[in-house]
Amino acid sequence: MIKIARIDGDGIGKEVTEAGVAVLESLDLNFDFYEAEAGRECFEKNGTTIPEETIKVAKNTKATLFGAISSTPGEKSPIIVLRQELDTYANLRPIKSFKGIDCLFNDLDFLIVRENTEGLYSGYETIDETKDKAIAQRVITKKASERISKLAFEEAISLKKESVTCVHKANVLKKTDGIFKESFYKVAQDYPNIKTNDYYVDATAMYLLIKPQEFDVIVTSNLFGDILSDASAGLVGGLGLAPSGNIGDKHGIFEPVHGSAPDIAGNNISNPIAMLLSVSMMLEYLNETYWAEKVKIACENVLEKGKVKTPDLGGNNKTMDVANEVIKEIENLI
Ligand code: ATP
Ligand code: MG
Repeated sequence: MIKIARIDGDGIGKEVTEAGVAVLESLDLNFDFYEAEAGRECFEKNGTTIPEETIKVAKNTKATLFGAISSTPGEKSPIIVLRQELDTYANLRPIKSFKGIDCLFNDLDFLIVRENTEGLYSGYETIDETKDKAIAQRVITKKASERISKLAFEEAISLKKESVTCVHKANVLKKTDGIFKESFYKVAQDYPNIKTNDYYVDATAMYLLIKPQEFDVIVTSNLFGDILSDASAGLVGGLGLAPSGNIGDKHGIFEPVHGSAPDIAGNNISNPIAMLLSVSMMLEYLNETYWAEKVKIACENVLEKGKVKTPDLGGNNKTMDVANEVIKEIENLI
């Protein structure tokens, strides 16, 4: 029995999680789903965006499937709390173009590995009494830099990629990114068969626009990764197709990149593919490689055939129509 925490959240988070669970249940595997609350609706009901019970449920499972939540002003963000509590120190964002989907580049397949626990998002931010000056601390440690680099190299091996690129700004942020870059090259010594290079983040932004095909795996700090991964999602099919995984040594949280999309929520027209690709990443994390591959290929085939698609891709199907089509496609593959 595979234990999975299920946090649907708000808006289209509920629709796409339902689709994700339907696909998981169609596989020849046994899952036990533990439902837990988080997000805006949860706050309105319980006075907290993430109850202790939810954290407990997530801690008791190896993987959490997370839909999307609407933010609640002044309250803590459930996904950030979960990332910290479960120590999911890496955010993985595959950037892949799909046949049948119009986009800026149709031959992309690379991975962004973003450090998820420190950098400019370490949480140390202060403001002077006069309110004239605010300071955010950019924390970079050897420990976190080495473990994220190691994970990037391991991902490169499992994805059969040739190179890992370290993205930093060590010419200006000499001390913090000095550590980040040095840690990267130290870890690289353990992976002599993988090519390495490093770029400044500003140059990387340009390369992503003019020659993104050259990237295999990018490893970078928290803020840079946040920005570069959203920009990269824009190079391929947009939000409805972008999956992500938050990975740690003990837990993983898998979620589509998109938010709760209140503008379309409730109509069952949200595109579930980003969630279904996140489901595939979750299966990979759980060492169910066979099924991870089947779910991924089924999504790709459904997109390529283009017969069943939601309105964001120019179709007129519903969320569950797409999920059911993916389920049929999986059956054809096995
Ligand atoms: P939130 O504050 O929860 O992030 P948002 O309004 O920023 O909500 P997002 O989910 O970030 O909405 O998405 C931005 C827009 O992209 C939405 O308005 C929606 O139209 C579209 N979108 C996002 N995800 C999907 C999806 N899975 N299917 C279809 N359209 C989507
Ligand atoms: Mg948003």
